Amino acid sequence: MTAWSSFSGDEVAALTQGSSFFTEPGERVCPGCGERRLRAYFTAPENARRPTLVSYVWCGGCDKFVGTRARHPEGLIFSDPLATLTTAERRELERSLTGFLAHLDKLWDSGALPQTFTA
Ligand SMILES: [Zn+2]
Repeated sequence: MTAWSSFSGDEVAALTQGSSFFTEPGERVCPGCGERRLRAYFTAPENARRPTLVSYVWCGGCDKFVGTRARHPEGLIFSDPLATLTTAERRELERSLTGFLAHLDKLWDSGALPQTFTA
């Protein structure tokens, strides 16, 4: 099992530079290790009090990740390959960060990720 560690503050700042994940959702160069293995997944939790966008960004090269919550950009629509899961299935999957990120990485390898975005 992968032991995930967090991106540093500088690395997180570097992640926000350059083109948006929404316009170029493919793999990109990781600020931690320099490999083009940085991947991202976005989801909009239905139970949020206000429109919220949750993002998971991870690197298979150096096993770093960051999860963030932000305001959902108005008009942004995207596919969610996990949308078919029931609430219980989803909660079970998200219970373990290691398992969740491994699942996302597998979805990416199988072509279900990256998502497609329409603004
Ligand atoms: Zn990396």
